[in-house]
Amino acid sequence: MPTPVAGRHFLHTPGPTNVPDRVLRAMDRNAVNHRGPEFGALGREVVAKLRAIFQTNGIVAIFPSSGTGAWEAAMVNTLSAGDRVLMTRTGWFSYLWEQLAATHRLDPVLLDTDWRRGADPDAIGAVLRDDREYRIKAVCVVHCETSTSCMTDIRAVRTAMDRAGHPALLMVDAISSLACADLRHDEWGIDVTIAGSQKGLMVPPGLGFNAISNKALAAMKSAALARGYWDWAPLVTANSTGFFPYTPAVNLLFGLNEALAMLLEEGLPNVFARHNVYAEATRRAVRTWGLELQCQDPVAYAPGVTAVRVPDGHSADALRATILETFNMSMGNGLGRIDDKVFRIGHMGDVGPLQLAGALAGVEMGLSVAGVPYRAGGVQAAIDYLAQHARGTAR
Ligand code: PLP
Repeated sequence: MPTPVAGRHFLHTPGPTNVPDRVLRAMDRNAVNHRGPEFGALGREVVAKLRAIFQTNGIVAIFPSSGTGAWEAAMVNTLSAGDRVLMTRTGWFSYLWEQLAATHRLDPVLLDTDWRRGADPDAIGAVLRDDREYRIKAVCVVHCETSTSCMTDIRAVRTAMDRAGHPALLMVDAISSLACADLRHDEWGIDVTIAGSQKGLMVPPGLGFNAISNKALAAMKSAALARGYWDWAPLVTANSTGFFPYTPAVNLLFGLNEALAMLLEEGLPNVFARHNVYAEATRRAVRTWGLELQCQDPVAYAPGVTAVRVPDGHSADALRATILETFNMSMGNGLGRIDDKVFRIGHMGDVGPLQLAGALAGVEMGLSVAGVPYRAGGVQAAIDYLAQHARGTAR
């Protein structure tokens, strides 16, 4: 048994993220009758606040599920077996989504990337222009590909779809971008936005979300995939009554209500700006260490997570294990084809500048202890930037 390390564990995975004390306190209570008046008021309040976060006036379905369940809900409510779905393989999570589509006997049309940038809206537009019979029923894109820390420009995807004059639904996985990066469900013409509780929303895992456009709701009429638990219909009613068709995750909803209040008090533009500052500070540290960012396209850098490549011949998993054992910090691992080549620093959700500086110090010390070659000074570069930013002089 390794000697325990004193002090708080540093949770720097890109989900689950740290749960603020206010949210913990809100959940620390007896369960309530989910068919009683107190619960209805909570349900309605949560939906109203979620609409502000998704930037929608429409329906937001809440499931007691992880994000994967919310993926499934989006598909089974709108599609039928054999439907073509255009999917962009930007990393591990888009690959898993594609596998789920295949499980439901959808017919994924794939657009590959090298996992070092976001999806290419022009390539999406070109495939749609060639689809003259409109056999593609949905375009599925991951906003923040958590495995690579690359963003896809959703507004540009929407524009490409409009230019192609194609009627496919636009489905966006915002699981690791919601409440980290701007995402405008209504204004950007998204049909289903998919999210989970355990990332930017700062709530423990266990809630999945679909924000749903009228066009997606209308697609339910012809969608023939079997749906029971994931059916949107009773949740449309739940949006106005606050009551759910089954026993909801009551205490998580109390926590979510508090977390949403915190985000709205801070203001979404401030929340996004804070994430961008941390991401830039982290990248400055990485560059100073002489390590390589997995994301090679500066316009695609993710605000909530940074994937970092270790030099050839070194193990990212061994580095993470050293950091956990020696400094009591958890980080994300590499997934799929970048397994053991990448470690991911989560800086999303309830993170303050000192926590970030501490996390980066953990990485820098870990590189030293694990014997991974690096140049010292990464933490200094990051704290210089954070201080400049606090003084208003950052460039
Ligand atoms: N999509 C993205 C972008 C994710 O980051 C994750 C999880 O990390 C998922 C989907 C899967 O979500 P869950 O693990 O909550 O089912």
